[in-house]
Amino acid sequence: MTFIGSTVLGFPRIGPNRELKRALENYWAGRCDESELRSVARRLRAGTWRDLAAAGLDSIPGNTFSFYDQVLDAAFTFGAVPPRHAELGLSALDTYFAMARGTASAPPLEMTKWFDTNYHYLVPEIGPDTRFELADRTPVDDFREARKLGVETRPVLVGPLTFLLLAKSAEGAPESFRPLDKLPELLDAYARLLAELREAGAEWVQLDEPALAVDRTAEELEVLRNAYRRLGDRADRPELLVAGYFGELGEALPVLADSPVEAIAVDLVAGPGALDRLPGLRGMRDKTLVAGLVDGRNVWRTDLDRALTTAATLLGMAGEVAVGTSCSLLHVPYDVDAETDLDPQVREWLAFARQKVGEVVLLGRALREGREGVRAELDRARSAVASRTGASRDQRVRARVASLRPEHARRGDYRQRSAAQQRSLRLPPLPTTTIGSFPQTTDVRKARAALRAGRIEPDEYRQRMREEIERVVRLQEKLGLDVLVHGEPERSDMVQFFAEQLAGFATTDHGWVQSYGSRCVRPPVLHGDVHRPEPMTVEWARYAQRLTDKPLKGMLTGPVTMLSWSFVRDDQPVDETARQVALAIRDEVRDLEASGIRAVQVDEPALRELLPLRAADRPAYLEWAVASFRLATSGVSDGTQIHTHLCYSEFGDVIDAIVALDADVTSIEAARSRMEVLDDLNAVGYARGVGPGVYDIHSPRVPGADEVADLLRAALAAVPAERLWVNPDCGLKTRDYPETEAALANLVAAAHRLREAA
Ligand code: GLN
Ligand code: ZN
Repeated sequence: MTFIGSTVLGFPRIGPNRELKRALENYWAGRCDESELRSVARRLRAGTWRDLAAAGLDSIPGNTFSFYDQVLDAAFTFGAVPPRHAELGLSALDTYFAMARGTASAPPLEMTKWFDTNYHYLVPEIGPDTRFELADRTPVDDFREARKLGVETRPVLVGPLTFLLLAKSAEGAPESFRPLDKLPELLDAYARLLAELREAGAEWVQLDEPALAVDRTAEELEVLRNAYRRLGDRADRPELLVAGYFGELGEALPVLADSPVEAIAVDLVAGPGALDRLPGLRGMRDKTLVAGLVDGRNVWRTDLDRALTTAATLLGMAGEVAVGTSCSLLHVPYDVDAETDLDPQVREWLAFARQKVGEVVLLGRALREGREGVRAELDRARSAVASRTGASRDQRVRARVASLRPEHARRGDYRQRSAAQQRSLRLPPLPTTTIGSFPQTTDVRKARAALRAGRIEPDEYRQRMREEIERVVRLQEKLGLDVLVHGEPERSDMVQFFAEQLAGFATTDHGWVQSYGSRCVRPPVLHGDVHRPEPMTVEWARYAQRLTDKPLKGMLTGPVTMLSWSFVRDDQPVDETARQVALAIRDEVRDLEASGIRAVQVDEPALRELLPLRAADRPAYLEWAVASFRLATSGVSDGTQIHTHLCYSEFGDVIDAIVALDADVTSIEAARSRMEVLDDLNAVGYARGVGPGVYDIHSPRVPGADEVADLLRAALAAVPAERLWVNPDCGLKTRDYPETEAALANLVAAAHRLREAA
């Protein structure tokens, strides 16, 4: 068995300055050709290999680059190209992009979240007719390319089980068909690739199996056992490292331990329970255990002393103990040293991808040569970690959280609330509203860029935003909407906007992380006790309300979504952090009420996102998620109407939680699923206001008034008119004005038609 020593399971690929994003978007827009795009890609790969080798990693992952997504890469490599994309007759690269992005005639593969991260992968479509073969040799080329540069890599592939478990049945496949049925054929193609990699000189290949961190049936575990026996028993292969991450491997761990693979990587950050299971696994004695001690998904410096102690306890449990990251570093930004404007103290606490590679190298050396040789580095790291403890605390915040009582998260009886709200808002049946944002015009974006660059003064910026708000209010009046919004022109992003104003959060300049394809997000860093030094939205909302007699809805982001789209401190339980954020939002909700705002929407689009992968962990999550929303929204009088908005997923798993939020009105994505969510809500007894989206804002298509009316009729079959709201699926930020105006006009017309009929 060859030595692994220290390694990372993967690395970011978008480029330290998002070079790949720009190159991709230029290529798609026809501004550069394939060879230019490929040369950018080659430079990025070379840079990564060079950096990882220079940092001193013992084993360097390869094939971590992707033009779009690693699951799509696997589909492409193994020939799972849907006929509608293959038939386009495009070049290989353009066929690949057609699968990712679609063309006028061929819709793309569906995209969905990669486990519980904010990364999105493309869902392979597998049917009985899918013919797996080694259709593309990018992983082999990648290996050779690195070798030419003098770097030996360990090619990383999505594992066969995870690939099929994440796939969906192709359209037209019989009801009884499951993608997993095709495993034997897929394994042949994998075996072929492994053999070619071996022949090219690869000593190790890493197969990523994060699907093993999700509850699996006994049958699936049996399939796992057979699959790795089959791959492992072949002689013409490299040594195999199977990486299971994002949680504990549970019953899959003993199966892997008994398999012929040479190494297993476990995530000791998300799944520390593995420490208790490993000692009993005799199969590990002749395997390498890659201990995922450095968090690949969060941005904190590792407590190296603790990691070393853990590693030491593992020593007797496996043939070799290597040190690694818990998962791929794809989920963190490149380099904390680029954050020159960040508070130096906060920066000291952070480690991005490059720093994490350094930590892994250090741990590897300490483990092999003893702590003595790296004492100075360990001392420095220790004092940085220690400096977090006191500095991130705010006694007033802690005292306030400690004084919370159950009634702080409870509102009055809904019937009384509803009557009080009717007196205050005087809404017709089937009231119309929107989800918050209106299209962000170039002028608005330019004004924000100018403010940031110091080219305009804050007063000038404020003036321009007010003009935009007035325009949006007048437009809504003209369209005849019943509950207006200010349009959110002042927000670049619904989380960043609040993070910039809350104590305890920091924002970065370059901390980009790939979300999907060329799209990146820059999650704020929640590093300390959170509170709200000053009102955040009141000025805008009050300004907008004064312009109109119609009720104007205040617009806030909820605690769960704030946490879900940030890097969150790991030094206290997350429910504690959620309570702090909830209190800050509660202050804002109350201030909005005090300034004359009669309806406040608290968006929780990410409610489903943080749902734990294993069913056993879900109740605890849902409890704090619901409690934090209620804490944020229960500080107002009965007459103030609380709205919430949910989108981006199917909500079947959290339908009880939606009821428990106790919002007066819930607007929810539904246009594409023809109002099905209403039946789900009825089934659990939801009996408050509900606005199933009747305009799919993800598409530029303008729904006609008849079509909206049809959807509303379908909705009325499930919900009485007094409780039904009429609104789009989500915010209008990414749309353009002409289509937005037309769609909203149709939406209002349809509501009026049904109102008269009611
Ligand atoms: N209020 C936000 C908006 O309209 C909600 C966005 C979201 O749900 N993602 O933009
Ligand atoms: Zn939404």
